[in-house]
Amino acid sequence: MAKMPSYTRFTSIRLLVWYLTAELVIADAGWQSRLVSKSADRLTHAEMPTTKATIRAGYNSAHTRTEQMMSGGQSKIEWTERTWNPTVGCTKLSQGCKNCYAEGMSRRLQAMGTPGYENGFKLTLLENRLDEPLLRSKPTIYFVNSMSDLFHQSVPDSYITQVFETIRACPQHTFQILTKRAERLASYCGRHDIPLNAWLGVSVEDKRYGVPRIDHLRNVQASIRFLSVEPLLEDLGRLNLRNIDWVIVGGESGPKARPMKTAWVERVKQQCEAQGALFFFKQWGGWGADGVRRSKKANGRLLAGQTWDAMPDPAALI
Ligand code: SF4
Repeated sequence: MAKMPSYTRFTSIRLLVWYLTAELVIADAGWQSRLVSKSADRLTHAEMPTTKATIRAGYNSAHTRTEQMMSGGQSKIEWTERTWNPTVGCTKLSQGCKNCYAEGMSRRLQAMGTPGYENGFKLTLLENRLDEPLLRSKPTIYFVNSMSDLFHQSVPDSYITQVFETIRACPQHTFQILTKRAERLASYCGRHDIPLNAWLGVSVEDKRYGVPRIDHLRNVQASIRFLSVEPLLEDLGRLNLRNIDWVIVGGESGPKARPMKTAWVERVKQQCEAQGALFFFKQWGGWGADGVRRSKKANGRLLAGQTWDAMPDPAALI
């Protein structure tokens, strides 16, 4: 076989290097994110405390990018700052779950090969994420389990306790835990001490499933008890807001969004004012105040001409 001239070999190698470099540069964000996710994932639970000093900077930069794809990260949700998902996946149990955002997103992330979503929307415990908030020193408000429900029947009590141990070990942060499993929340909290920096909330989408959850929540020992009235699907009627500190109201978004009427929102707001609960209006969602279908952004979040952003002050609770 004829030997390739040395200048041709050199050019071929250069072309190969150039090609590989170009591949790396133009790789899509998801691909890059998966690469970074893998390196972040390699930090096991046991490794983090011992190697924290040396790898912290590297981990945090990888982590910031990967959170957006896998655990959470900076959140667009108006009433929080970041998300933290030590579990992912869930099962539907009431009308508010019908168009669950987490379900569709989990399946998309599974299709993209995103670490943590190998099981799609099946409830999965992700122990490698339990320490994530420990690695962030800046005081932050975390929404816990935006992609799941911590009190799902497949999450053992021992795992919930591990989540609360992380919360207890991060007094600089505030953790908002929202569930539709209000009975289990009350049962668990009746047997365990809940750290001051954990705010506990239940979803209240309708009278049949949502409103009864408030009774379970009001007797739970927590520094802040809150309601997420989203998606608000009907007039909730008279509400007992005793021991409820904060109420968030929002309409449904997404292609199958169900409309929300102004009168339903106003009635919740008036009851908050009368009973001393803080009121936060999150969004109209897919249907505007005028009953017209538009994008969530176009419909905005004005109620009676203004925004309503009241929420508890984490600093005041320390
Ligand atoms: S409880 Fe929440 S995460 Fe679970 S299915 Fe219902 S809406 Fe989705």
